[in-house]
Amino acid sequence: MFQDLANKKVLIRVDFNVPLDSSQNITDDTRILKALPTILHVLHHGGSVILMSHLGRPLKKLNDDGSIDIQKFSLRYLIPRLSELLERKIQFASDTIGPIAFDKVLNLKAGDVLLLENTRFFAEETNGNLDFSAKLAQLGDLYINDAFGTAHRAHASTTIIAKFFKPEERCFGYLMEKEMVNANKVLNSPDRPFTAILGGAKVGDKIQLIDKLIDFANNILIGGGMSYTFIKAMGGTIGNSLVEDEQLDLALELLAKAKDQNVDLLIPEDTLAAKEFSNNSEAKIFDSFKIDNDSMGLDIGPKAIEKYSQVILNSQTILWNGPLGVFEFDNFSKGTMSIAKAVADATQKGAFSLIGGGDSVSAINQSGLSDQVSFISTGGGALLEYLEGKKLPGIKAIENQDD
Ligand code: AMP
Repeated sequence: MFQDLANKKVLIRVDFNVPLDSSQNITDDTRILKALPTILHVLHHGGSVILMSHLGRPLKKLNDDGSIDIQKFSLRYLIPRLSELLERKIQFASDTIGPIAFDKVLNLKAGDVLLLENTRFFAEETNGNLDFSAKLAQLGDLYINDAFGTAHRAHASTTIIAKFFKPEERCFGYLMEKEMVNANKVLNSPDRPFTAILGGAKVGDKIQLIDKLIDFANNILIGGGMSYTFIKAMGGTIGNSLVEDEQLDLALELLAKAKDQNVDLLIPEDTLAAKEFSNNSEAKIFDSFKIDNDSMGLDIGPKAIEKYSQVILNSQTILWNGPLGVFEFDNFSKGTMSIAKAVADATQKGAFSLIGGGDSVSAINQSGLSDQVSFISTGGGALLEYLEGKKLPGIKAIENQDD
């Protein structure tokens, strides 16, 4: 992190992609809170701050007349909360890289904060356009990337912009550093046994991660909708459960690879299923390999909860991505909540636990145990790609690595 910041204008890429309700109130300010240490560091060391971020996908959801839906996607609605948290006035440049932004930057003094309008109001942001990146870069003397959640995108403000700063003029923010340190604890010589818990709806999204994890985990616990692709591949009858038929062969390959490498890849022994995808549909326990034709698996069953909890409690390193069932439905949340409890208990016993991916973060928050795990990542896709061993473009750009 930079120390020599007196009178420097510091451009910080943050992830302020916060949820807004229909009256433009922030419903969860976690992402703003997580960016504060870096912003405050710059302000306390005599610099001024220019904040840039995206919010949603404005160009994919234009108004009927083709204009941008400012009500939904403007960063201006963050000003009151930001002003409260930073205890100062927040200036705003509604044109992001236009004359207003340049004029305000020219007049910035130590301790000032300028927020730029949503970078994704410009197609050049997601295209990684060089001229657009150069213009953004002109706004600051120094560049900090603190947006781990978008580090897997080679966008203008997350990646391409770094080219316009010398290595000594660019660095990671505190949040990015923390994310990398914690992910590296899992990736590089984790304490063993190392258990990965993978849930969620789609196997397709997580195949590469499972493949990579087989190389270095001791146990992989599969849950959620993606279990049924494995179960069908193994010859089970899964009724109307979620399945990705195009992934059946790959599921068998993963099972064979795990066996070859002595990794315990566990599939839930039993399943809580219902006839309809609804909280109120009557729940019944099945052997996961013998689900009735008219039923669908919506949660792991009691035997699976018991088995998975034991494995987790005996682990020293735990990675959790994705819910074990449809935890949004109270009647099918027990599997996910029990696993959250086991992860928290293992952590209290001394294990290191890393939780990442939007839905597992919501699940741990819902369980009320979020302060009892080691680290909750702000990255969904970015964390998965990092753990798959990919060098993220936003990280490479700061480190100046080309491959
Ligand atoms: P993902 O984005 O792939 O992590 O998936 C998260 C979603 O998977 C959550 O919204 C869960 O409700 C859903 N999910 C988990 N288990 C199941 C299941 N057995 N059937 C259908 N959806 C599920």
